[in-house]
Amino acid sequence: TTWRVTSAAAALEQGRGVLLSFEDITALEEAGQMRRDFVANVSHELRTPLTALVGFVETLRGPAKDDAAARERFLGIMEKEAGRMARLVEDLLSLSRVEEEERLRPATPLPLADLVRDVAELFRPLAARNGLELVVRVPDAPFSVPGDAGQVRQVLNNLLENAIKYGTGGGRVELTLSGPRQEPSLRGEGVRLAVRDHGEGIDSHHLARLTERFYRVDTHRSREVGGTGLGLAIVKHIVNRHRGRLRIESERGKGSRFTVILPTA
Ligand code: ADP
Repeated sequence: TTWRVTSAAAALEQGRGVLLSFEDITALEEAGQMRRDFVANVSHELRTPLTALVGFVETLRGPAKDDAAARERFLGIMEKEAGRMARLVEDLLSLSRVEEEERLRPATPLPLADLVRDVAELFRPLAARNGLELVVRVPDAPFSVPGDAGQVRQVLNNLLENAIKYGTGGGRVELTLSGPRQEPSLRGEGVRLAVRDHGEGIDSHHLARLTERFYRVDTHRSREVGGTGLGLAIVKHIVNRHRGRLRIESERGKGSRFTVILPTA
């Protein structure tokens, strides 16, 4: 615990006492430390691709000037690094937006079934490119939950992107929407979105920290597949904003299931 002296009154009762007031500033200190860590992380994440870019520019000006094949290869890498920086900036903006709005619960009813089908169609080509079949289960009944359409889309985007990135080799990725009619245990709870993959899975000791900003199980792997380390932090904040719940289940080597429950009222 960290204490800060907020006032000191000396010489009480003819100099026989001292009055000190203290304030517990542990939370304040922690918030400050978190902010410093965050800034350090962001700087590091931006500096890595920037350093690569600057390095390749120098190589293109010098040693690789007259080597067409090398130039093509380096330009490809530079494009990838620039893409990484762009994604990171996008994710940082999303994160700060949802954090700011977290206290305001969205009230507009969302046609969830259509939204889920929509997003799934957008991901079908990416899944196919990674050798995965995207299996979508959306009941015919309409689902309506209060929510922010853009943000619920982003939750699905981030979860599907991960399932495809880390689910390669698993054959299929499943996206399921269900409500109390399909799943009686959801009565009085809300609707459930589940994204399941059969890929590499995650060791259980990582699960509790996955939604922290920049937490990755394998930094090299995350970079290789183009991750920013912010996807699940954004998901967590959006789910909180909707007063929902996020559950992560996974088994190393068997795959993962990310479940979001959004309350109906
Ligand atoms: P990233 O941009 O690195 O994918 P996320 O916040 O989306 O960041 O995820 C954090 C980490 O959680 C990832 O780096 C990865 O290690 C792990 N992860 C997320 N989704 C999955 C999944 N479906 N299967 C295996 N690991 C996953």
